[in-house]
Amino acid sequence: MDFGLLAVHAHPDDEAIWTGGTLARYADEGARTAVVTCTWAQGTTRAAELEGSLGILGAGRPRLLGYADARKAESAPGAPRFVDVPLDEAVGRLVEHIRQFRPDVVLTYDGFGSYGHPDHVHAHRVTLAAVEAAGYDQLYPGTGEPWRPRAVYLTTIPRSVVTSHWQAVFGSPPAPDQTLPGVPDEQVTTHLDVGRWAERKWAAMLAHESEVERGASMTLLTALPEQARAQMLANEWYRRVAYTGAPTTTLDSW
Ligand SMILES: [Zn+2]
Repeated sequence: MDFGLLAVHAHPDDEAIWTGGTLARYADEGARTAVVTCTWAQGTTRAAELEGSLGILGAGRPRLLGYADARKAESAPGAPRFVDVPLDEAVGRLVEHIRQFRPDVVLTYDGFGSYGHPDHVHAHRVTLAAVEAAGYDQLYPGTGEPWRPRAVYLTTIPRSVVTSHWQAVFGSPPAPDQTLPGVPDEQVTTHLDVGRWAERKWAAMLAHESEVERGASMTLLTALPEQARAQMLANEWYRRVAYTGAPTTTLDSW
């Protein structure tokens, strides 16, 4: 069976942190898998680390849009920030990847960018626009035959999981006015058990050596008690956006 899974992420490392288990599991089960990364340019350290991570996850070669990180100009010297690029341009670039790869399912962040980073929020918006636009032969001619993915899954965390681990990571419970990542548990439509792929996911995360060295977000995981860390690595959660295709083609049922 031909089944294509395309993840769209803002930065090198997000593919492993948010969707590493899903990508590894589906690659092992025979799906075609790929990742589009919106920021960081070819030739940078982060792009090279991405190549290592994708190799571990079985997700092919990097597909870089080559824009700059909103907070790191050195990510793509001379290129505009992803969040500043005209919407039509960014959508068109992604439409081309969708038409060339022809995914059944597209993965990206939830509407809050999974935890609020402006590049993540923007990637969510651009992805939803591109998934819709890719199906119209009138739009973006010259980028391939129109293609309609069947579903979009938005990576997220159940609010109960966020609150139960908050103290272990940050040393105190969330303040009452704290903006929390994730969504109320009942809004999570899809849970994937990726326990068998947790070690590969962790290895892919560690392939982003420069991020590990600077103590980036994934290193928060090392602050968790072992059981909590195992839970975070072994589970991935999504909100399914019902889309155009057959209702039987979902991450759950394939
Ligand atoms: Zn990110």
